Amino acid sequence: FALLFGLLCGSSIGLLCFFWLMMRANPRKEILTGIKQNQFHVVYQPVVDSKDLQMRGVEVLMRWQHPGAGAIPPDAFINFAEAQQLIVPLTLHLFDLIRRDAPALAKRLPPGSKLGINISPGHLHADSFKDDMRQFAASLPPDHFQIVLEITERDMLNQREATRLFEWLHLEGFEIAVDDFGTGHSALIYLEHFTMDYLKIDRGFVSAIGMETITSPVLDAVLTLARRLNMVTVAEGVETAEQAKWLRDHGVNLLQGYWISRPLILEQFLSWKPDIHLDSE
Ligand code: C2E
Ligand code: MG
Ligand code: MG
Ligand code: MG
Repeated sequence: FALLFGLLCGSSIGLLCFFWLMMRANPRKEILTGIKQNQFHVVYQPVVDSKDLQMRGVEVLMRWQHPGAGAIPPDAFINFAEAQQLIVPLTLHLFDLIRRDAPALAKRLPPGSKLGINISPGHLHADSFKDDMRQFAASLPPDHFQIVLEITERDMLNQREATRLFEWLHLEGFEIAVDDFGTGHSALIYLEHFTMDYLKIDRGFVSAIGMETITSPVLDAVLTLARRLNMVTVAEGVETAEQAKWLRDHGVNLLQGYWISRPLILEQFLSWKPDIHLDSE
């Protein structure tokens, strides 16, 4: 019935309904089959320096092309994977996909380029986490990429656990980014106690730039805070030149968003040339 409904509607809403019904019926099987049948792939979104607009790295984003339901956004399937205790196998699959692309990526991206990877809380807490991360790093071209683990503030562990884990990650050469900053519920005290390298300012703040005559005092405060904590700032969801200019002029270090580039499949990414300009004043 669900398939029929999805097909009859023929719309993305119908297909999404189909997806929800199907996932409710047997989410484990759908995800495991998806992994086995190679239904997942990755896309790469360039991250550029706000000053010279040169590429400094990419964020890796996962995609699910489901044979019945079409493209399923990660916000939907990551939650299912978490709930089904499948986030570790799914992330290991993600690592596999990245590893396959890595030689080509290394030709396009100079040494030291950042490779941003989203890590779910379920994986952070898993026993295998450290081994998984070590193996993943070892599977990439040696000393080429700076791996940045993106963790949302919602997902921070308790303080002692996190301090130890972050210390370990730094010793192993990983960097850590607080993703979607400003959307979670965590206390600011977290920032003071953990050493995290990047602060990714949520799209919600960025999209407000230019909409209001006075820019958000909260965004101003966040930038001051990041500077005081020696964190590199990254703006997510930069969609206009006006936003990019504002962010650059307010000292935001890195920019990511549709104005620079949408997330691209490997082939597109390899031939991507930035076509963006900002006047110097
Ligand atoms: P995120 O890590 O904050 O990723 C940024 C999201 O913003 C991506 O959505 C990206 O496509 C989107 N985006 C980038 N630039 C713009 C822009 O200019 N405008 C707008 N409107 N959107 C923009 P996406 O790929 O749908 O991913 C959504 C979330 O799903 C991610 O948020 C991340 O939390 C999660 N996710 C994606 N891939 C993975 C993964 O491989 N593993 C895990 N654990 N989570 C993932
Ligand atoms: Mg992210
Ligand atoms: Mg984000
Ligand atoms: Mg997000």
